[in-house]
Amino acid sequence: MMLRAAVAALLLHAPLAAETIDAATIKEHVRILSSDDFAGRGPAQAGEAKTIDYLARAFAGVGLVPAGPNGSWFQDVDLTRYDRTKVGSFTVDVGDVTLTLRVGPDVTASSRVVGTTRLRNAPLVFVGYGIDAPALGWRGFDGADLRGKVAVFLANDPDFEAPVPGDFGGRTLVFAGRFGAKVAAAQKAGAAAVLVVHEDAAASYPWSQVQNGDRAPGFALTPTGPAPAPFGLSGWLRRGAAVELFRRAGLDFEALKVRARDRGFRPVPIGDARLSAELATTASRVVSRNVVARVVGATRPQETIVYGAHWDAYGVGEPDARGDRIRNGAVDNAVGTATLIEVARAFARGPRPDRSVLFIAYTAEEKGLLGAEHYAANPLFPLETTAAVFNLDPHVVLGRARSVDLIGGGRTNLESDLVRVALRHGLRVDPEPYPEAGWYFRSDHFAFAKKGVPSLYFREGRDLVNGGTAAGTAKTVAYNERCYHQTCDEFDPGWDMAGAAQEGQIAYDLGLELANATRWPTWNDGVEYKVVRDASAAIRRGR
Ligand SMILES: [Zn+2]
Repeated sequence: MMLRAAVAALLLHAPLAAETIDAATIKEHVRILSSDDFAGRGPAQAGEAKTIDYLARAFAGVGLVPAGPNGSWFQDVDLTRYDRTKVGSFTVDVGDVTLTLRVGPDVTASSRVVGTTRLRNAPLVFVGYGIDAPALGWRGFDGADLRGKVAVFLANDPDFEAPVPGDFGGRTLVFAGRFGAKVAAAQKAGAAAVLVVHEDAAASYPWSQVQNGDRAPGFALTPTGPAPAPFGLSGWLRRGAAVELFRRAGLDFEALKVRARDRGFRPVPIGDARLSAELATTASRVVSRNVVARVVGATRPQETIVYGAHWDAYGVGEPDARGDRIRNGAVDNAVGTATLIEVARAFARGPRPDRSVLFIAYTAEEKGLLGAEHYAANPLFPLETTAAVFNLDPHVVLGRARSVDLIGGGRTNLESDLVRVALRHGLRVDPEPYPEAGWYFRSDHFAFAKKGVPSLYFREGRDLVNGGTAAGTAKTVAYNERCYHQTCDEFDPGWDMAGAAQEGQIAYDLGLELANATRWPTWNDGVEYKVVRDASAAIRRGR
């Protein structure tokens, strides 16, 4: 009797997981999803039909119900595909020389303007980090007339190489430091084109990756209403080419970089440098699909917990040195997708939760979080009563770990739940190791965060049971250098998926707890998404 009471008390204080997330099952899904049969799971490519069919069958097989319109497993995502059909020479006249920028080795170029985009002798202007944050006293474009000009940006934000943290939180990347944010800022400032100087560390990925992606088609959500005019030309400019350009213009690139860390920095012309360039673009409509499945809540089915993982990878592209054209995306993100299925199985098999649990396998994450952005703009279940989003996008297979890495910490009280649940499994929560890479902005949950839904992103940590942090870091660095988004992201039969299972187990436990709770997670004070969330507080209070 006493023993039973003690056990009951224990269960009450440290509830055991109802189901165990299984490493072998995850591994088998990864093996299949990353096989060549799935052709690298490129959205709107040959691999899509097979991938989404596999996922729908997997969700059905574990006992979920379809969550799409009219009983469908799918949510259509209307995309516009942009192909660069022609690229002419890129030349810069500076002083008495003409520099040729080789598209691919020196510069990348894309356009969202259908037809031919031509620049003729467009002046180049160095805009530093191009930060427009009036609240912080940064007015990076004040007094600059960028109309008809090429804005040349530094990657990342002003704190990235600063010796002491300034207005932008030290090495942690702020959203304005992302490539897309810089393109938007240049467009707002009236520029005709934007080139972001590529430095490996500041960009957080090597030139090889940028170059690989240069010829790949670009995608965007097809606008459903009036949309701003598309931007003419954007690309990366490789560091070496930038340094040479600045030197020819009589400027010291390194010295200007230091000056650009000051909030008083204003755009400066790059001498008399002028860019002439030409490229042609076509656009076509394609429909891709999110896969959506649900466990319907027992008592409060209209309240939702979301688990998401992107099913897409880089598909078929240019051949590598061995002639392999398939970017299988075994780690990124067959592992997350497989974990999603396994968490779904646990929910379907275990005791039915009070709230509903929605599983979304997103399309086109690698094209700019497009599947998630589409869902967040067209939610199948109201975002106001979506309690939380858990993102599964693990980045590297490491084996059993003693830690998890929290991405983008300091934002929501879901993080203290994470610390508590991880500890229950003997795992420590570490801050993300590369905050300058801005991972929080680089996966699907971010689309929900912007809409106010408390979102949590964590991954298996690098402190491994076998080899500690040194071993985990070495594996991570090797993967980033060789395989991330490349043909070598392939399934390895020797993989130990224990770490992926740990990650899935914590995600499952967190969501199960919340699915049986009545509380609503919140953003921390001062977090920008809190304002959006608070606007719908009355809807949740009334429940
Ligand atoms: Zn990913």
